[in-house]
Parts: sequence; C-alpha cells; structure tokens
Amino acid sequence: MPYKIVAAQCTNCSACEAECPNMAIAEVGTTFVIDPAKCTECVGHFDVPQCVAVCPVDDTCILDTRLPRYQASQGTAS
Ligand code: SF4
Ligand code: SF4
Repeated sequence: MPYKIVAAQCTNCSACEAECPNMAIAEVGTTFVIDPAKCTECVGHFDVPQCVAVCPVDDTCILDTRLPRYQASQGTAS
C-alpha cells in the first residue's frame, strides 16, 4: 500500500517532496499529498521510505491501510 500524509500533522516543510524517488509528493493546497498511483513504498530505491525518513513530524507519513501493499514486478518466473 502506498504511503499517505496526515494533513493535520504536516507542517508543509517540503522536506519529503524532493526525496521521493517517484516524484509522488506534491504540494496541494495547504498541505503536501502523496499520489498513491506513484508511490512504490520506495521498494527498489531505498531500504526505508524516504518520506518517513526525512519527515520531522512522527507518524505523519504513514501507510495507507485502505490500499493493498505495493507489489514490485517480478522479473523471473520460477
Ligand atoms: S514511500 Fe517512497 S515512493 Fe512513496 S511517497 Fe514516500 S518517498 Fe515517495
Ligand atoms: S516532510 Fe513531513 S511535515 Fe514536511 S512536508 Fe513532508 S509530510 Fe509535511
């Protein structure tokens, strides 16, 4: 499942925006928002989600439990 930003806790510091490898984060109105269609949970890019790693506010970038976990495409059949 993709990550989401808890708007009520986001301070609009913009730190996460530049760190996302998929450019999934953008400022929308008065807060930052993660596009769930672009978020890959940083799988294949980083060991930890970069938005979580850089966000100064705990529990602001969190998994969106309403959506399924991201599945990296498997290149080999076995
Ligand atoms: S988990 Fe990774 S891919 Fe998803 S929004 Fe955060 S930085 Fe971007
Ligand atoms: S790093 Fe955290 S507080 Fe800063 S804009 Fe992103 S979600 Fe908001």
